[in-house]
Amino acid sequence: MTASTENWLLEKSRLFEMVNIACQPAHWKDSLEGLFTLAKKDLIYDNLVLYTTDVNSGMLEVLFARSTGRGKHAEAEMSWGETISSKVIQENKVIQETPTGESSDRLARPFLLGLPVRQTVKIAGVLVLIRFGGPAFSDSDLQIGQMLANLTAPILREILLQELMIRLESTKAVSTLQSDFISTISHELRNPLGFIKGYATTLLRPDTNWDPSTQKEFLEIIERETNNLTELIEDLLDSSRLQSGQLEFDFSPVRMDSLIRDEVNRLMITHPNQKVITEFEQGLPAIDGDPRKLAQVIDNLLSNETKYAPESTVTINVSTENEKIVVRFKDDGPGIPMEYQDKIFTRFFRVPEHSLRAHGSGMGLFICKQIIEKHQGSITLESTVQGSQFTIRLPIRLNGLATGTEV
Ligand code: ADP
Repeated sequence: MTASTENWLLEKSRLFEMVNIACQPAHWKDSLEGLFTLAKKDLIYDNLVLYTTDVNSGMLEVLFARSTGRGKHAEAEMSWGETISSKVIQENKVIQETPTGESSDRLARPFLLGLPVRQTVKIAGVLVLIRFGGPAFSDSDLQIGQMLANLTAPILREILLQELMIRLESTKAVSTLQSDFISTISHELRNPLGFIKGYATTLLRPDTNWDPSTQKEFLEIIERETNNLTELIEDLLDSSRLQSGQLEFDFSPVRMDSLIRDEVNRLMITHPNQKVITEFEQGLPAIDGDPRKLAQVIDNLLSNETKYAPESTVTINVSTENEKIVVRFKDDGPGIPMEYQDKIFTRFFRVPEHSLRAHGSGMGLFICKQIIEKHQGSITLESTVQGSQFTIRLPIRLNGLATGTEV
């Protein structure tokens, strides 16, 4: 073909540019913006809307809209394209609609062109163009329009693929979490149950008479393991109630120093060899808090220190800083490796190397974080091989939470 006989619908260089935009990797919004801006030179329109079908609801939704010239104020009102888009999908073809009545108001006489954007045979989107007051779309407009819709198809495919990837990732994350949860929980349930069953069966053996001190020892093991089970079940219930916002909080003035002192004294009964140093600032003010829930946090941090840093000295420092009570729990145990630190407050997460060392369900720190956040506070971790430090910051006065509030 010679230059003189060439009959291009649009300038060659523009066509190449449009193909490049459609095929090159870029953010989809920039690609669509570039494509529709270039197309405007050969295909006049006032408004343009690209509809896609939502994968979940099957409803049409606006993915991209562009208004120029007349009807710009109608930008927010995009429902005009929905009817023609549904028709394009139902009839599986290009649809043109011309206004019937006479009116001097151009905005009341829209000419519409609905173009299918196909992914293989399926229509994945509809490109709708509108001209207020005409002129009607010509045959060459239709050809350019269809080409524009075809060039939109790879960009739309990219968007759909990205959406699919995100959905797959989140489904995968949920299913990994569920299987991690099931394996952790079944292990944690089976363990104490094994002890309870074993010692109860031993005590009940008809052929043996156990002396009172052995009986007491076995019953104590049964009691300890039953407590572990109860704790685990309570943690499970708390963590699901916290997640669904159904755990009730009962706020009253709390002195963190006396609450910590009580918890340390309780720990000394079960772990008399654990070294704990307390450093309390003089005259600490009371805070608004739920004493039972805050005690649960302290108890969990202390019991973690006995489990994961058993030989270390625990230092608990409480001070006031900027209208906040700051509680620092420091141990000189093995620490938490850097790679796991951002996951440590996630439900069911346990440092793999620690899982063999001590029993646990990975719910403790998740529950602590939720409780502290319900007090409008924060809990953070700093950890190196020299030890871990958990820092809790609690506002002295809560904003807008009254005693007995359900949070
Ligand atoms: P659990 O103790 O039931 O496993 P937690 O949520 O309380 O659950 O703790 C999550 C993980 O954080 C633990 O499995 C452990 O690996 C790690 N961890 C918590 N506290 C410490 C600590 N003081 N030193 C080292 N590792 C810790």
